[in-house]
Amino acid sequence: MKGLLEQNRELQVQSLLGLIKASETLGLDPTRYKNALKTIRPDLVGERPEKRTTKSQSKRKQSASSVSSSGQKRKLLSTKVENGQLHLHFSGSIKNGNLRHFILERNGNVLYVYDLSPARVPYSIKRIRGEGFKEIRIAQYDPKKIRIVIETTKPYKPTSRISGSQLSITLPGYGKGASALPKKSTTKSKTVTGLPSKKAKAKTALPARTVQSVPKEASLPSSMLRRYTVVLDPGHGGKDGGAVGYQRRKEKDAVLAVAKQLKKVLRSRGFNVYLTRERDVFIPLKKRTRYANRKQADFFISIHANAAASRRNYLKSKGIETYFLSRARSGRAKRVAAIENSAEIKDIDRYTKDAYLSVLNREKIIESNKLAIDLQRQMLTSVRKKYKAVVDNGVREGPFWVLVGAQMPAVLIEIGYITHPTEARRLFNPYYQKLLAEGIANGIESYIYHNK
Ligand SMILES: [Zn+2]
Repeated sequence: MKGLLEQNRELQVQSLLGLIKASETLGLDPTRYKNALKTIRPDLVGERPEKRTTKSQSKRKQSASSVSSSGQKRKLLSTKVENGQLHLHFSGSIKNGNLRHFILERNGNVLYVYDLSPARVPYSIKRIRGEGFKEIRIAQYDPKKIRIVIETTKPYKPTSRISGSQLSITLPGYGKGASALPKKSTTKSKTVTGLPSKKAKAKTALPARTVQSVPKEASLPSSMLRRYTVVLDPGHGGKDGGAVGYQRRKEKDAVLAVAKQLKKVLRSRGFNVYLTRERDVFIPLKKRTRYANRKQADFFISIHANAAASRRNYLKSKGIETYFLSRARSGRAKRVAAIENSAEIKDIDRYTKDAYLSVLNREKIIESNKLAIDLQRQMLTSVRKKYKAVVDNGVREGPFWVLVGAQMPAVLIEIGYITHPTEARRLFNPYYQKLLAEGIANGIESYIYHNK
């Protein structure tokens, strides 16, 4: 397994080196490839003397490398929530001009957004839950910028402080000006209980240095769903049976049945739906996302069933989990990815430029992560209506090659363990399949309402 991943990495390195060279020859900006390479093999980036070609090309190269090197200097080292403050410690000093702040509203929640640029985080997204706020999210927004979002249900007045290489932001409920005010006061000039209305307005309407936009969110009519195209990808097929589970049941059959049910549900709600396979046929991994790209799909959902690591775990391993693509770290993600990738690991070296481009698009990773969260939550809600004990294994990230080429939010769902006697039976039960399908459809809708 480890060898497989090492091999993966080496191919990735080779492809990235190729892409950097190609970009430079074509006069395109190779920064994102360099940054990607830097995360895998820092020793290969930056030190190589660059050949001079035309003036404009070398200029572009210079600006690209200065951006990435200063971003490299300001790398997020640690985060800490303490005494009502979020402390972010970086490897280099921060100046006021590096930080931008604005406020967004989403679904009645307030999002306090801080963009720091140039800066880098060593992960795709970090979520912090705590008292007094809904969630803090820290992510690489684009190759240069990191975004810190403090989401709260009630408005408050955050203050940020920079000292050297540390950025501190106050969290709700602490310190000066952190009075928890009623929800509506950020967007509407309503009288705020307990405070004279004029003062409250002034206090809450401009809590930030730059208020960019406070968009209102209206829920979409269901006819709007017609605008969305979903490509469903039942895993495996034909000569590739996928996991073989309890009573020799095959993954490829279970996932096709669920995908077909899901197609029905989504079509009845107005979505455009395509399947990468409608029958028991073998389809190479890269053709699956290529198909989704050709259909200009808004969502790519690969459906799989899990298998326990060993016979010993057949009764222990169960539950539903949803993956999005990343250079995953956890052993579990690597194991599952190795199983799902194994059918045609040889394909990787033929991966195209476009495929890599989307691997490295962090915004897409964040969108896929959000989609995965909505899908996971809604699937669990749906199946637990009837099957209360279904285990929630959560949202995870993993290096799934089937997701690599997708140009849209893409996730891989493991709908259950085909090696578990009860789950295997359920995966072939049309009623259970329908609950799963409804949950997935609800998850897609939920994502659209929150993000589109
Ligand atoms: Zn599979």
